[in-house]
Amino acid sequence: MSRPLVICDCDEVLLHFVGPFADYLAAEHGLTLGLDTFALTGNIRRGDGTAVDATEFMPLLDGFFDTHMATQTPAPGAAAALASLAERCDIVILTNVDDRHNPVRTAELARHGMPYRVVCNSGPKGAPVAALMAEYGATAGAFVDDLPPHHGSVKRAAPGVFRLHMVAEPRLRGLIPAAVDADRRIDDWPTALPVLEAALGVTQ
Ligand SMILES: [Mg+2]
Repeated sequence: MSRPLVICDCDEVLLHFVGPFADYLAAEHGLTLGLDTFALTGNIRRGDGTAVDATEFMPLLDGFFDTHMATQTPAPGAAAALASLAERCDIVILTNVDDRHNPVRTAELARHGMPYRVVCNSGPKGAPVAALMAEYGATAGAFVDDLPPHHGSVKRAAPGVFRLHMVAEPRLRGLIPAAVDADRRIDDWPTALPVLEAALGVTQ
């Protein structure tokens, strides 16, 4: 019998990202990441104040994931909330990183108490969410992500999936408005858990 399916992003939902990424940029490249606006490209600057070009961004991002993923720390309550949901639901981590980062990302999440299947993606998440719902034969689903465009994409491709907008990183919360296509905006796991349980019909 199929169970409800929880499809959850990783960076800034389960694991902190901007802090470790900023530390990596400073230590390995002598660059500074500013957080005055919600954008990574354009906010990375050299010592002389000039911004790093957009074309240089992806190599920096992949460089971080290649060598520094182990510096990412878990969001408070994430592992406990997913463990509770996993008793009654299937869990898949849907993360926009290159496939080559899957083994380390899977191992790091497991090391932090989140031993779940990791699916790597690029671009909008609507299509992979719809595909996962079909693959699992799930009758109910929930999607958790920090980036508003993904909620629009999932709303269009899998409208029956409950969409929770979560920005687990306190420094980003004020920079990311509530996603208009999400059902709820909740930025911490202890508050989100009963809301997800209710949406999935698995209230204890
Ligand atoms: Mg994210």
